[in-house]
Amino acid sequence: MSTVEPTVPPSAPTLCLHGQGVVRGYTIGRAVVMSAASLEVAHYHVSPENIDAESQRLCRAVETAVADLRQMAGTLPADAPRELAALLSVHGMLLEDPMLVQSTCQLISERHYNAEWALATQGQILVEQFSMMEDAYLRERGADIRQVIERVLRVLSGSTTWLPSLDTVQADGSFIVVARDISPADMMRLRTGKFSAFLTDLGGATSHTAIVARSLNVPAVVGMGHVRALVRDGDLLIVDGVNGVVLVNPSERILQEYRERQAAFLRERAELQQLRHAPAVTLDGMQIRMEANIELPDEAADALAAGAEGVGLFRSEFLFMGRAQLPSENEQYDAYASVASLMAGRPVTIRTLDIGADKTLDGDATVATNPALGLRAIRYCLANPDMFNTQLRALLRASRHGSIRILLPMISHMHEVRSAQRAIERAAEQLRDEGIPYADGIQIGAMVEIPAMAIAIEPFAEALDFLSIGTNDLIQYVLAIDRGDKDVAALYDPMHPAVLRLIAHTINVGERVGKPVSVCGEMAGDARATRMLLGLGLTGFSMHPQQLLDVKKEIRQAHSNALRVKVASALNRAERIDLATLS
Ligand code: PEP
Ligand code: MG
Repeated sequence: MSTVEPTVPPSAPTLCLHGQGVVRGYTIGRAVVMSAASLEVAHYHVSPENIDAESQRLCRAVETAVADLRQMAGTLPADAPRELAALLSVHGMLLEDPMLVQSTCQLISERHYNAEWALATQGQILVEQFSMMEDAYLRERGADIRQVIERVLRVLSGSTTWLPSLDTVQADGSFIVVARDISPADMMRLRTGKFSAFLTDLGGATSHTAIVARSLNVPAVVGMGHVRALVRDGDLLIVDGVNGVVLVNPSERILQEYRERQAAFLRERAELQQLRHAPAVTLDGMQIRMEANIELPDEAADALAAGAEGVGLFRSEFLFMGRAQLPSENEQYDAYASVASLMAGRPVTIRTLDIGADKTLDGDATVATNPALGLRAIRYCLANPDMFNTQLRALLRASRHGSIRILLPMISHMHEVRSAQRAIERAAEQLRDEGIPYADGIQIGAMVEIPAMAIAIEPFAEALDFLSIGTNDLIQYVLAIDRGDKDVAALYDPMHPAVLRLIAHTINVGERVGKPVSVCGEMAGDARATRMLLGLGLTGFSMHPQQLLDVKKEIRQAHSNALRVKVASALNRAERIDLATLS
């Protein structure tokens, strides 16, 4: 991240734009504004005798775009994010879908639209259809449609890329991509290091672009609305990925302020690295366990690099998603065993399949009335015993390679715990009968994420080996706030006294019964919530690897006994606690 010297007229006003900061960090640089091919296409009618030729022009452009994607997929660097290969293949499939080409050709033949106009029109229809879908994941796929259509429009216009030639970008500057949307494939060009941030009109925190940006660790602000219309090529920009703010043509005074923030941020990151091997101990000597959440096996290396003491949550459902067939027992065994081996004896907590709600299996057409309250997670597994058995066998077999613990999601009833325990015993028995080795005595725990379980936690704490509080769902269910709905996002409140009381109760009962309790929801990785969690008596945190050091720093500066006294007295009165009083 380099800085550039500004040549801003002293009178130029500063424009302040807002969006969603996806990747933390500050950048100061010049805007490189991308054209939006689909919005600016030529509109004309083709004569009847040229309709066939126009349709063929479209088909050739689609074929070229597909070939480009294949070529890109075949030449991905070894360290490219895993999602990228999958996304390139999704884009290829969308382009090869006959519906896209056929419907566009129909517009050419029936309405005599030129190829660009027909394609942009058909694209608009598809994007609107996607935007009306109930499923949030499918709604976001509208962005993929838009991106593949822009790719074909670029081919039709004779240009293969919409990014400027990197050769024309001076090597010593810092350049910021400003676009309506960026396809993951184009995002890869940011890897050259020539672009130091990106801003987009579209996209949300879970969009593919955001996912790739996170893995590239490039400061980014998405969902800005009209940034592409408001910013001109060459404008000087400050990107504040921490707060999701972009300042256009800032004054010298503001620039100076942000240069200082940027330097402080980089110093802070560098200093934090020194904490990698430092113990997570509070000022009054309370030892805290710091573990990592992972979605895919290869992220275990990130967990180790960040100094995690184990994997507190491996969301195994990501092995099952985005594919036509379920992973076999052997494929699962390999995945679990590889994490267990890499973690070399450190605990690896693998959550059994948490499918349902916003995480669906490909080809599962079940429409639940209210998926968040439907056949999700353990409910789904107990209703699909063969699938559950395959996963349990793989987990038991892999447990020989390290210290695997089984974590059951979405438990609300004791009979679910007993059924799951019986299923684990049955899987072990089968392996024994077949002479397949596995480790005895695997620990079994459960997510505490349904209020009923947290309120009546005692028998669960007695029956299980450990508890892990899933604050993401616990908050959603306590406050009746859909965690993925931006319209009620302001009401999603981790600090609500009712939420805090349930966390405190779970921790207290765990302490009494002698069972370890941790938090693996997003709250554990938010350094602003660390003191509150310590005050609630929490001694086990699990979070994304990149958040570990921020939280560890906070722990090392806190006094846990003093926090416990403050938090307990406020909670007794069901008062809202001002976080400032905890610092
Ligand atoms: C949670 O609910 O807090 C949790 C960690 O699980 P997920 O986010 O996968 O639902
Ligand atoms: Mg959950």
